[in-house]
Amino acid sequence: MKDFRDVAKAGVTVEALFRAACFDASELRILLEQATGLSRVQQITRSDHSLTVEEAQKLVGLLERRDAGEPIAYITGIREFFGLPFRVSPDVLIPRPETELLVERALAVLPHGGMLVDMGTGSGAVAVSVAHERPDAVVMATDVSEAALSVAMENASQILGTDGRIRFCQGNWFEAFDAGMSFDVVVSNPPYIHCEDRYLKEGDLRFEPENALTDGADGLAALSILVEEAPHYLKNGGWLLVEHGYNQAKAVQEMLAQRGFTAVQNWRDLAGIGRVSGGCWRERGNAG
Ligand code: GLN
Repeated sequence: MKDFRDVAKAGVTVEALFRAACFDASELRILLEQATGLSRVQQITRSDHSLTVEEAQKLVGLLERRDAGEPIAYITGIREFFGLPFRVSPDVLIPRPETELLVERALAVLPHGGMLVDMGTGSGAVAVSVAHERPDAVVMATDVSEAALSVAMENASQILGTDGRIRFCQGNWFEAFDAGMSFDVVVSNPPYIHCEDRYLKEGDLRFEPENALTDGADGLAALSILVEEAPHYLKNGGWLLVEHGYNQAKAVQEMLAQRGFTAVQNWRDLAGIGRVSGGCWRERGNAG
């Protein structure tokens, strides 16, 4: 492959840039849009546009960042999730498509006018998607990271408008809110990767906040706090739904059953991997 620095020079046309095949074409489209303001359609209809000095410099800067492994979403500052444009920064995990399953399951069990909390909201992807889909719902979101909460708040106001529909609380898991609060749904995509998993040192993950990816232990520590504590904050018949790793479905379902959840089950993501588990909390027969 040709070096993009030799191709992306002032005067080169958009067409010649793609013809040179100096970079992954779909990534080049995204970064070229960032550098020139030409939409992906315009890059085709106006492919005879020649890059200005400034555009070429900007493009090379973006390609260099990507070449060094920085995630596309951090470079553009945006990632689509559940059909909505979420702003992302290195303070938050980049929303993953498989997490849309968590939103779908939450929507399925959330009663009309119900209350949901998203624990460890990060960019706010789950909380904002639920609130967007269900204007009747009361949605709360927590995170231990103030920087993450500010990204989530910005997404809430950009996507939902500044109507204050989501209440944000800062704190470590359930320390974020007062005893006595109770929800129809507690939902979370916690850090669940084993701290020694080499996957943490690959691809996008190298650039993401470590405490959003791993609990610093075996990957089940945060999940077990959620399973242990959630019943104190669930209404009778309320649901706990959590995302987990590809090999954690059995362990998480066992924890849920052991804690006294009923209707414990697991759902597979589009790749066929057991990705979300949950259970229903019934007061009767559960001493707590
Ligand atoms: N699903 C993410 C990944 O595997 C991890 C997200 C998480 O730890 N909650 O890249």
